Amino acid sequence: MRTIRSQLEETVGRLTGVRGRAALRTAAERAAARAEFPTDHLDRHPHELSGGLAQRAATALALIGEAPLLLADEPTTGLDRDLVDRTVDELRRHVDAGRPLLMITHDLAAARRIADRVAVMYAGRIVELTAADTFFGTPGPRHPYSRGLLEALPDRSFTPIPGQPPELGDLPDGCAFAARCDRATDACTALPPFTGSLACHHPVPAPTRKEIRA
Ligand code: SF4
Repeated sequence: MRTIRSQLEETVGRLTGVRGRAALRTAAERAAARAEFPTDHLDRHPHELSGGLAQRAATALALIGEAPLLLADEPTTGLDRDLVDRTVDELRRHVDAGRPLLMITHDLAAARRIADRVAVMYAGRIVELTAADTFFGTPGPRHPYSRGLLEALPDRSFTPIPGQPPELGDLPDGCAFAARCDRATDACTALPPFTGSLACHHPVPAPTRKEIRA
C-alpha cells in the first residue's frame, strides 16, 4: 500500500522527468496543491482518506504531465462548491492548453464551464451531440430528454422529468425515453436512428431567426 505522496512522486518522476528526492518532493506537493489536496494528508494511504480527498488525490495525479487525452469520470462528485470550482478551473486550463478532455458527468454546471461539445446519453445510447454553446444557450438542445435535463435545473424551471429510466437489461424495442416523453407517437415504437446529432423521431423544432431575436 502506497501513500499519496509516494504515488505523486512516482507519477511526477515518470511523466515529467523531474529527478532527485528534493525536486520530486517539491513537484509532488505542487501537484497536490493544484487539486487542493492538503499537504498534511500526503503521507496517508488511500483507504485513510474521505471520498472527497480521494477524489482530489485522483485529480492531482491525473493533471501531472501532459496527457494526450484525459478521461475524467464524475470529477466533481463528492466535492463542495469551492472545490468543484477549483477542479473545473484546472480541467478547463487543461483544455485551453490544447489537450483533449473527455468528461463524464451529471454536473451540468461543470459541463457548461468546461465543455466545447456535449453528448447526452440515455439508457446507454447517445441521443444528442451538439456544440456546448448551442446546448446551453440558443437554440438549446432538441432532444426531449436533453431539454428535460436542462429544465430540471434549479436556475431554469426546476421541473423534474416524470417517471424513471428503464432497466438497461430490459430496454424497449423502440425509443427508450418514450414512456417519459410528451412528444411520443406511434412512430417511437421503432428505435430512432442516430443522425450524427440526434436520435429522435420528433425533435423539438429549432427556433426561427425571428424567435431567436425576440
Ligand atoms: S423518439 Fe419519440 S419518444 Fe423518443 S425522444 Fe423522440 S419523440 Fe420522444
